[in-house]
Amino acid sequence: MNKYLHLLLGLLLSFTVSSAFADTLAPPIPSAGIAFSLIKTGHTHAQAGMVYSGGSFFQKLEINHVAVLVQHPRGSFLFDSGLGKEVAAQYQQDMPWWAKPSFYYEPPVNPARTQLDQAGITVPRIILSHSHWDHASGLVDFPEAEVWITAEERNWDRQHPGFPGSFPSQVGPPSIQWHTYALEDKPYFGFPRSLDLFGDGSAVLLPLPGHTPGAVGLLLTLASGKQYLFCGDTVWSAQALKDSSPKSFLASFIADDDRAATQRAIELLHKLMLQHPGLVVMPAHDAALQDTLGYFPQWVR
Ligand SMILES: [Zn+2]
Repeated sequence: MNKYLHLLLGLLLSFTVSSAFADTLAPPIPSAGIAFSLIKTGHTHAQAGMVYSGGSFFQKLEINHVAVLVQHPRGSFLFDSGLGKEVAAQYQQDMPWWAKPSFYYEPPVNPARTQLDQAGITVPRIILSHSHWDHASGLVDFPEAEVWITAEERNWDRQHPGFPGSFPSQVGPPSIQWHTYALEDKPYFGFPRSLDLFGDGSAVLLPLPGHTPGAVGLLLTLASGKQYLFCGDTVWSAQALKDSSPKSFLASFIADDDRAATQRAIELLHKLMLQHPGLVVMPAHDAALQDTLGYFPQWVR
């Protein structure tokens, strides 16, 4: 295994994209009760030049692994689960030897379940942006929760077990209560399909196929009117969205299931950022951007 492939693999953590270009924009109705908090479960580092095309190979970026806790009067949920209690065993079992020099996390891990238990918070539902290892690791820590995954993503899991697909040790345990769902044919915010989780426009799932076939993003509209779009691994850095830049060629080649669809999703998100200057599009792993919001138990309202 040459060192370049190792370097490239090290960047690949997970992903998704969209092919939606509908222009329908339904005005969301902010919910006074919605809030979110970033639960930082772990981190690692990667060269900017691997994270996005045009980045410097002399700059190292911090790569976060977070679960997003969303609270709403009608129920709370996690968007992704981050690194969980069993990540060491999962990693040992399912990360292939040739990928380990590049695909790693830096201890310590602070699982979402541990942090939530300490705070006395329970979550009845987890929604996956997609099912890659660094997003699904914590699922087994929540056997009482319903785990929402698109039918496309669940089918892809079954057809592509193991790295760079999902880890059998993470998505295989029978204790996980899967709930497969489909987005509705309702254009929203420039996307052709959507799913309004609470019926008030405050939390809406949007299709971002590309990184993986069934990946989704989550658009939150807070009481202040401020909007945050969690875009999973469509990109690994907010800078990539500003530049409409894909991951490095090798990173995208390995990590993005459909590179063309991934790029369409990047361009859609870029367009939305231009149309909505107040919109914050949040890549799952951009630690520098997430640092500006703070971490659990700090809330964004
Ligand atoms: Zn990821």
